[in-house]
Amino acid sequence: MNIHEYQGKSILKSFGVAIQEGIVADTPEQAVAAAKELTAQTGTSWWVVKAQIHAGGRGKGGGVKLAKSLDDVHEKASAIIGMQLVTPQTGPQGKKVNKVLVAQDVYYPGASKTAEFYMSVLMNRQTGRNIIMYSTEGGMDIEEVAAKTPHLIFKEEIDPAVGLQPFQTRKIAFNLGLSGNAFKEMTRFVASLYKAYDTIDASMFEINPVLKTSDDKVIAVDAKVNFDENALYRHPDYAAMRDITEEDPTEVEAGEHNLNYVKLDGNVGCMVNGAGLAMATMDIIKLAGGDPANFLDVGGTANAARVEQAFRIILKDPNVKAILVNIFGGIVRCDRVAQGIVDAYKSIGEIPVPIIVRLQGTNAQEAKKIIDESGLKVFSAIQLKEAADLVAQVLKK
Ligand code: GDP
Ligand code: MN
Repeated sequence: MNIHEYQGKSILKSFGVAIQEGIVADTPEQAVAAAKELTAQTGTSWWVVKAQIHAGGRGKGGGVKLAKSLDDVHEKASAIIGMQLVTPQTGPQGKKVNKVLVAQDVYYPGASKTAEFYMSVLMNRQTGRNIIMYSTEGGMDIEEVAAKTPHLIFKEEIDPAVGLQPFQTRKIAFNLGLSGNAFKEMTRFVASLYKAYDTIDASMFEINPVLKTSDDKVIAVDAKVNFDENALYRHPDYAAMRDITEEDPTEVEAGEHNLNYVKLDGNVGCMVNGAGLAMATMDIIKLAGGDPANFLDVGGTANAARVEQAFRIILKDPNVKAILVNIFGGIVRCDRVAQGIVDAYKSIGEIPVPIIVRLQGTNAQEAKKIIDESGLKVFSAIQLKEAADLVAQVLKK
């Protein structure tokens, strides 16, 4: 689960991580009030107005603007709230901005003495350990840094038995070229950042940029915080930070029905039981010359109600030209699934695209008979290869 920058920063702050202070606003009037309040709190005389969407690269897309007067705050907030913000991470359709974060300007005065770093915390899946990844090249696309100057990206791995050690935070501050007070500030910053990551069961933190200010403070200017959803039940306060307006509506609906659905860009819808089989099915669709329109794992109980719900969700996607149902009857009997498909089809009414059903396992032959005798626009197969060829055929039409 992703959250907004303003929410991520409030979590970091609660763990003692120094942040660029800010106040969230829904309207230009609220933004002006927020700017006044920030000046009272921090003494800042300039502000940055930052679009709050679940995507990075906002600066590049025109979603982060400096404001030098209260009128300017009003103007920038008016321009940003309600805009369809397109960034390298949103796709061409962009994302609608509903809120802005009005933040203190932390670059001025003495901008020439500031430095921007990159820092993230994430799991190294090869070693099963958390790492802190950091770079002197902050404020830019880290993918670009990785491609052009990979030697400027450092990694520090944390041993779970002992946790992050002080020598490691010093090594990070040293590699970032810091000395004096900024060095000490960085060691504290890293220690509290890691503590936050570990405690809240995050799956990723990305702070880009981490700023060294002209007076040698080290603060988080941006905060991308991603939670491990499997651990969210332990953190109801954080779970409540979810903003479903930022998520794909079909995925949200699928989640409400306990269906594991991920929307993709292709033209063949798939309904499968089991995540591994679902991935293999997507490969088979590719091999047959199609493109999967989604990942969908209906789980162990492929009964009529679930199958119907899954069909309805797949059919919400206008790109779907065919649906491949691939169910392995291990615990569940294939003939029951077949009957479920027929019932679901009748309950939905006319399904506008051909359906290819591959049922394998217990009572597969009986299942095929049920499908073949249903009189519906459903093609049956037992072997996966047959099913893939059927998909290729219907796509050609
Ligand atoms: P992103 O583009 O979505 O990653 O959003 P960021 O929060 O990282 O902001 C984008 C850029 O805006 C940063 O890299 C900074 O260069 C700039 N920026 C952020 N805060 C300030 C600020 O307080 N003052 C000034 N002058 N620039 C800022
Ligand atoms: Mn950023």
